[in-house]
Amino acid sequence: MPDIAIECRVCHARRPFTNPYLTCPTCGGQWMEARYHWVETAPKEAAAGWTAALARRGASLWRYHELLPICHPENIVTLGEGWTPLLRAHNLGLMLGHPRIYIKDERQGPTGSFKDRQAAIAVSAMKEAGITEAVVASTGNVAIAYSAYCARAGIKLWAFVTSSVPADKMREVALYGSEVIKVAGTYDQAKQIAAEFAASKNLFLDQGIKAIAAKEAMKTIAFETAEQLGSLLAGDDPTIPHGNRHPWHAPDWYLQAVSGGLGPVGVMKGFAELRDLGLTGRLPKLGCFQSSGCAPMAHAFQKGQRQAENVLNPLTDITTLATGIPGEAYEVLFDLLQAHGGVMEAIPDADTFHTLHTVAKMDGISVEPATAVAFAGLFKLIREGVIAPHELVVINCSGHTFPVEKHIIGDQYTRNMAPADSGVDGQDAHTAGREEGLLTALEELDNRVQRIAVIEDNPDAARLIRRILQAQGDFLIDEASNGLDGLRLIQQVRPNLVILDLMMPGLDGFGIVEAMKAQPALHDIPIIVVTAKELSPIERQRLDGKIKALLQKGSFLDSDLLTDIKQALP
Ligand SMILES: *Cc1c(COP(=O)(O)O)cnc(C)c1O
Ligand SMILES: [Zn+2]
Repeated sequence: MPDIAIECRVCHARRPFTNPYLTCPTCGGQWMEARYHWVETAPKEAAAGWTAALARRGASLWRYHELLPICHPENIVTLGEGWTPLLRAHNLGLMLGHPRIYIKDERQGPTGSFKDRQAAIAVSAMKEAGITEAVVASTGNVAIAYSAYCARAGIKLWAFVTSSVPADKMREVALYGSEVIKVAGTYDQAKQIAAEFAASKNLFLDQGIKAIAAKEAMKTIAFETAEQLGSLLAGDDPTIPHGNRHPWHAPDWYLQAVSGGLGPVGVMKGFAELRDLGLTGRLPKLGCFQSSGCAPMAHAFQKGQRQAENVLNPLTDITTLATGIPGEAYEVLFDLLQAHGGVMEAIPDADTFHTLHTVAKMDGISVEPATAVAFAGLFKLIREGVIAPHELVVINCSGHTFPVEKHIIGDQYTRNMAPADSGVDGQDAHTAGREEGLLTALEELDNRVQRIAVIEDNPDAARLIRRILQAQGDFLIDEASNGLDGLRLIQQVRPNLVILDLMMPGLDGFGIVEAMKAQPALHDIPIIVVTAKELSPIERQRLDGKIKALLQKGSFLDSDLLTDIKQALP
């Protein structure tokens, strides 16, 4: 049984961990923190014994049970949450010129978002406290996660959501047997109504970020990340919990899209405990991102204020992030940013939706719009140089997109085919006719008219460019991996466009440009140069007037390349 004290955030008064839901008897504060005796007393031996024990434990967040506020294992309500993969963002990294981006894939939780961690601990705590009926307010994902765990725990849940929560999400809440109360108003109003309802019915009301369970749940993201990074950096398999085989490692940055702020607050508590145990060094810098239509924290932060700029009428399509009144959570985050560094940024929804599509096309990761806000923030910080190329970044991939919201990909995402109906009698003739019809239809689908030659000797860069062109859908791509083959290819196929690297062994990109300009048949084929090289004035002069565009490798996005291609093609 963990030896825990409960500490008030405001006056630091402590009391024993009996009822986790009491407000501070000294000042009336509601924001409570769990303090673990063994973290504070014998860090060195405690840490050594703990990491040794971890090597023998399973891949779920319950492997850290000594630092979780559940006293009796029989109260644990679990769906196998935690120990989500930490994925390297290969293609995005190539595109952004930043090799050290890691994605904590929280989509792989039982209900598809990182709220599963919160639900697992909070509902287990409810069970431990003997609660059988509860009220929660949510922007969607908390309601889904709590509903699933409450179903398992036999707790009746009243979920208050705003009417802007997508219908599919509300249906999932109902599927688990919760009462869904749809509030025609903002999330902050839904919270208010939920509180009044709970008080009038004398029901337990989930305290969200103020509750101990919530913050303790989110800190497991820090524990897992530090364990998994340790394995990754040692060249070992990060999907296996290694415990004491590798030193723990904190990233330089932790990035997340923020609504109420629970994630970063809990994660930073986790990194602080690891530091106190002597397992990791400094805490990461924080990158917190909000939708510009509802950015009470980011806007205040940009002005250096420690008070949030409350948003009474959120103007964003990203419901998940529509907390307009963050309360004391913002102060806590502000102080964390002052102490450890980092930024808060507001991201326009248009950037978010574009980024959502890019992340899916480039690295096969489909995220919900709220999560894409963080990826758009990642792109921004890297491009602005706020995140330096040597810094290791972990981004919380907080939730899945299912179904994909319509405005992301528009209406024209299918290519339609209608196999010609054979109309012939008899089984064989019918089948043959149908196959022929399918082939014709498929050929008609393959109407790619523009042919692009990619001359690039670096396989990673070639893969990136190919991926960008493929995801666009209608180019025929020819590739060569050195200058001589490249020139031969260009002479053979006469492409509509050449995408060219400059630094190649043998005939380099400059040589190809000059050879093409010297041959009348190739003279007019447009060229886009993609290079990692800083060009000298003389080199620039050699290309001047001969190429359509020059892109710096590692700092262009798919949209940059596609824009240049569209402009270069006849
Ligand atoms: C809840 C949620 C967020 C915001 O999390 P907070 O830490 O509570 O601010 C971001 N993304 C997704 C998918 C979420 O469900
Ligand atoms: Zn107090």
